[in-house]
Amino acid sequence: MRQNMKNDKSAILLIYTGGTIGMKEDSSIQALRPFNFSQILEEVPELGKFAYRIDSYTFDPLIDSSDVEPSLWLELVGLIEDRYDEYDGFVILHGTDTMAYSASALSFMIEGLTKPVIFTGSQLPIGVPRTDGKENLISSVEIAAAKDADGHAIVPEVCICFDNVLMRGNRASKINSDNFRAFRSPNCPPLAEAGISIRYNTLNIRKPESWDTKPIFHKNLDTRVSILKMHPGITPQIVRTILCGNDTRAVIIETYGAGNAPSKEWFIEIVREASSMGKILLNVTQCLAGSVNMDIYATGKCLKEAGVTSGYDSTTESALGKLFYLLGQSNDPEAVKSYMESDLRGEISK
Ligand code: ASP
Repeated sequence: MRQNMKNDKSAILLIYTGGTIGMKEDSSIQALRPFNFSQILEEVPELGKFAYRIDSYTFDPLIDSSDVEPSLWLELVGLIEDRYDEYDGFVILHGTDTMAYSASALSFMIEGLTKPVIFTGSQLPIGVPRTDGKENLISSVEIAAAKDADGHAIVPEVCICFDNVLMRGNRASKINSDNFRAFRSPNCPPLAEAGISIRYNTLNIRKPESWDTKPIFHKNLDTRVSILKMHPGITPQIVRTILCGNDTRAVIIETYGAGNAPSKEWFIEIVREASSMGKILLNVTQCLAGSVNMDIYATGKCLKEAGVTSGYDSTTESALGKLFYLLGQSNDPEAVKSYMESDLRGEISK
C-alpha cells in the first residue's frame, strides 16, 4: 500500500526504556544525559506536525539494553495491556543491542495483536547533529498511527523500525554495530519502507483473526534455555555440559549451513542422551540467511534421528523468545516441539 490513510485522532504511547536514542547533549556539563521524554514535543518538534496525541511513559531506571532481562518484557507487556484501549499504537524506544530479543519476545507474549507495537532506537543519540534517532522515531510514530480505510491498523504486528525499513520484530537481527543500517531481516521482506511516503508491503503484513477481540497477554516465561554454538574443536565436555545440564529444558543448537553438525559418534551420543532426558534441542543455522533442512546431508539427518527439532529459518533471538514463551505455557516437551515447528507469529517460513 503506497498511501496510508491517517486518522487524525490517533493516540500513540511512546515508551522509553533507555539506550542511545534517549541521550542529548547537556551543554552545561558538556556531556550526554538522558533526554526528558515528558517534553517530547519540545525536543522533537517535527512530531507536533502530526495531528496525533502522543503521550510518553519513561522507565525508571533507564537502561542500556545490554541489561535487558525478561522482567523488562513483562513490564512492557503489562503496560501495553493496561493502556491497550487508550492508544492506537505503541512505540518503544529501546537500545539496539538487544532490541531483536525484546521484539521477538513481545511478539510471542502478545497473541492476537490488533495494534502496532514498534521498537526503535538509534546509533547516534537524538541530541547530536547527525542523529538517526529523529528519523527513526518520526517514522515509527507515523507507522504506529497508520490506519487503513476501515480504521484498522495497517501494521498490527510487533516490529522494528530502523533506517527507513520496517521489519517484523521476530525476523530481525542486529548485524552492524556502527552503521545506520543496524538491522536486517534476511529471511522476511520488509513490512514497509519509508521514502517520500511510507510504502506498506500489505501482502506480508499479518492480520489478526479478529479485530474486535482483545489480545491475550502472556506473562509466564520459563527461561531455562541455553544456546550452543557449534565450532570446529568443540569438546565433548562442553557439549555435554550445555546439552545435558540439569537447569536447562531446551537448548538452541546453532549449527553450520543447512543445519549440519559433526557426525562424530561422541557428539550424536550426547545429543541422544539429552533428547532421552526430555530436553528440547532446536536446530537453528549460524548463517545469517536461509533455513535448516535436516534432510539434505547425512550430518543433518543424524541430528533429526537423534531427536533434534528443526528451527527452520528462525533467528536465534526469535527461537529464544519463542522457547521462553512456550516453556512457560507447557510442561509437555512434545507439545513444545510441535509448536516450535509451527509458525505462530510469522517467525518462520514453512
Ligand atoms: N548499548 C546501547 C544499548 O543497546 C546501544 C544502543 O542503544 O544503540 O542500549
